[in-house]
Amino acid sequence: MSKPRRIYLLSPKAYSPETIAVAFAKTSRSPKPFDEIAAELNDESSARFHEKWVVGYGHASVAEHAVLHLALENVSRLAIESIEGNRLASYTEKSTRYQQWDPDAFYVPDELAGHPLEGNFIGTCRQLFDTYQRGIPKVKAWLAEKMPQDADESDAAFERRLAPAAVDICRFLLPAASLANVGVTINARALEYAICKLLSSPLEEVRAIGEGLRAVGQLETPTLIKYAACNPYLQAVEAKMAQHSQSVSGGDDGVGFRLLGWDADGEDRILAAALFRFGGAVDYQRCYQHVAGLSPEQKAALAADLMAERGKYDQPLREFEYAQMMFEAVMDQGAYFEFKRHRMMTQTVQPLSADLGFALPIGITAAGCEGDYQSAMRRAAELYDRIHEWNPAVASYIVPNGFNRRVLFTINLRQAFHLCRLRGASNAHFSIQRVAQQIAEAVDQVYPVLGKYLDLPQDVSWRSIEADYFSQIATR
Ligand SMILES: Cc1cc2nc3c(=O)[nH]c(=O)nc-3n(C[C@H](O)[C@H](O)[C@H](O)COP(=O)(O)OP(=O)(O)OC[C@H]3O[C@@H](n4cnc5c(N)ncnc54)[C@H](O)[C@@H]3O)c2cc1C
Repeated sequence: MSKPRRIYLLSPKAYSPETIAVAFAKTSRSPKPFDEIAAELNDESSARFHEKWVVGYGHASVAEHAVLHLALENVSRLAIESIEGNRLASYTEKSTRYQQWDPDAFYVPDELAGHPLEGNFIGTCRQLFDTYQRGIPKVKAWLAEKMPQDADESDAAFERRLAPAAVDICRFLLPAASLANVGVTINARALEYAICKLLSSPLEEVRAIGEGLRAVGQLETPTLIKYAACNPYLQAVEAKMAQHSQSVSGGDDGVGFRLLGWDADGEDRILAAALFRFGGAVDYQRCYQHVAGLSPEQKAALAADLMAERGKYDQPLREFEYAQMMFEAVMDQGAYFEFKRHRMMTQTVQPLSADLGFALPIGITAAGCEGDYQSAMRRAAELYDRIHEWNPAVASYIVPNGFNRRVLFTINLRQAFHLCRLRGASNAHFSIQRVAQQIAEAVDQVYPVLGKYLDLPQDVSWRSIEADYFSQIATR
């Protein structure tokens, strides 16, 4: 006789995260139901189990069943980068698009306490924030002329349209020292590694956040993260590679976007994998040879059937992951802050610096704020250079959102579809829209058969975004 199906919660209201993790882990060897296993456990027996199996024998995936919700407030956006560098977690943070920053909402690095440059740091942050605050009403006034109130639009609705557009333009001034809040949902396995990385950071603030996360994390998962510690390898490799990189000659050639490589037969792979998945007992090689032998028209027809019933919000099938592309892109820090939130790709970013110049939005120029903007940005760049001579990591705090940054990334066609749809949409910030359009253009060039199904706004390109929104992309 078949047993009744049971589907139920092991609620965190009833069991601690470590107990839930043990209850799940034990199903591997125990025939008992989960709730019976859980009822036999307590915090001490759960801790013993984790010490033996997770810590001792390395069955680390068990720790993924212990999930924590961590609230971090008043941490710098530079530190948030280190936190969000951990891909296997979920984040929501204070938005530079939907909120206006308070004038004193910036972090003064502990490293600068009593240093001769401390006063200059505070003064430069004040100038950046002051230019930001004074710029918003001016940019709003310019926007009100550019996109006037509709006859049937209430004052409140008009304000809701103008305010974010003005903040979008002025956010270029916010330095990486700006303070923000971020909510993190993460499992104990990912948290342990995250804490290791944070504790290995060259920045005092980031190490202190690592300590703080370990302290509050241990309240809920005392065993699973207790061995999280600074990792000497992570510390050593940074210094060694920085030394080696000095032997790379040539510097920066100024190219802002480059497709470095791609799977030349990516579309054939995807189409063949789709036949493999839905066909009978045919091996992949035969599916691939079949697709490779099709005429361009036949391939287009096959792709059309693959995409035919796809709705606006349907993801492409997982088989789209068989086509990989590698890019190098220069984007402003505001765009990078959004770009880094996309976890399903491999990203490598260079340290935040003032070396690649800063973007100048048209709104700043048109609203008559360019002089103040240039002065604040140039002061930040000068101070960056001075701090960099003494402590390169700390220097990044003073770099505003408008400065450019070079990012290397590998992305598959499935994630490229997702990113381009989300970030190429007309409601996305123009800086990240530009990047999404650059990726979309490259996709279209190398994967035209499937690339035509990218859903992006018509009559927009990265060139038109540059022309419509930027006075300059890289002011040096
Ligand atoms: C209009 C808009 C407003 C936004 N406002 C804010 C804001 O105010 N604050 C803020 O912090 N962020 C904001 N974001 C960023 C947003 O929350 C996402 O972090 C970002 O767009 C990355 O996209 P993604 O979550 O789809 O995931 P990606 O990391 O790009 O992953 C691709 C896909 O993989 C799947 N996936 C990846 N990881 C997980 C996971 N852990 N669990 C389940 N599925 C997963 C999902 O299907 C996801 O769509 C905003 C984004 C948009 C488009």
